[in-house]
Amino acid sequence: KETAPAAAVLKPSAKSPVRLNYNENALGMAPSAQRAAAASIPHSNRYPFAHLGKLQSLVATHHKVPSESILFTPGSSDAIRASVLAHATPDTQLVIPELTYGDGALYAGFYDLAIRKVPSSREDWSFKISDMKQAVADHSGPSIVYLVNPNNPTSTIISSDELEAWVNDSRDDTLFIIDEAYAEFVNDPAFRSADHLIAGGAKNVLLLKTFSKIHAMAGLRVGYAVGDVDRLEHVSHYVEDDAMTLSYPGVMAATASMQSPEFLVHSKQSNDEARAIFTATLDELGWEYLPGQTNFVFHRISRPLKEFQAAMKERHVLIGRAFPPADGWCRMSLGTPEEMHYVAAVLREMKSKGIV
Ligand code: PLP
Repeated sequence: KETAPAAAVLKPSAKSPVRLNYNENALGMAPSAQRAAAASIPHSNRYPFAHLGKLQSLVATHHKVPSESILFTPGSSDAIRASVLAHATPDTQLVIPELTYGDGALYAGFYDLAIRKVPSSREDWSFKISDMKQAVADHSGPSIVYLVNPNNPTSTIISSDELEAWVNDSRDDTLFIIDEAYAEFVNDPAFRSADHLIAGGAKNVLLLKTFSKIHAMAGLRVGYAVGDVDRLEHVSHYVEDDAMTLSYPGVMAATASMQSPEFLVHSKQSNDEARAIFTATLDELGWEYLPGQTNFVFHRISRPLKEFQAAMKERHVLIGRAFPPADGWCRMSLGTPEEMHYVAAVLREMKSKGIV
């Protein structure tokens, strides 16, 4: 019996829109992770103590570090918070690029740190490592450098050669918080994970990771920090014991997902395909976009974001919020290839009617 092509089955509605607003993974969790989470429900009257060790050991092996170099948090958001708080002193500054993920500055603000934003190019939102170094050099107290690689919302990478050269040649009172939420989607060989710096003994790097993106587990809230054992022990004083913050289904699903490499390959391939469909559409429209390395694309729009958002919402597509000061730009998450074909059709229709 013939099955209908997936695109024909996709019928977004106001109640069930295409959600391209939070950089989630539209595929859903690995089937093995879904089974593990479901099977854990009858046992969820218990704390997940007994199962955390296995997850910790799988994650530690993946990053080639000892188990004590991994600290779990309920999503990497809490790892950002705890890493900043654990190093907040009255004379510490946070150094960030002007256009990046907001949580570093959010928590620095909560804990009264000075925030130094390094300006970005108005053309492509790139920033210079040399300017970040200067921002650290200008400050007499300690600095926390929060770098998202690849960056959100721009989706672009910082060259690992440049970043590592700086880390290896930095002041002792400079801490690098490197957030690699989207690293598994990267194609550019100029990027490599900072985990090998920690494996090689770097004491001033905290690498933050999440199960929310490539593993498609945003709703189960599992993230972690990787770092030097003593540094991480210090950070651990600023979070609840990890066996108390993670849920039983979250631990079991993450453990299953770590053991499902085929899902991660599928997840990346699907994302590459979705990106190709979307960027071909942007080319057709003549809209400029940055060379994306994640599950979202940062692109120019032909009318104000609010109007574009509303027109897309009318057609049952939810897209990203504003990222000041990047007026005239939009962050669109990548859904499944079928969803991106739908988006392509919507954009063509709007173009033909002069709406965009
Ligand atoms: N870091 C970055 C760069 C993100 O974009 C996000 C979420 O979108 C997070 C961290 C937080 O993710 P979670 O708390 O789900 O791990």
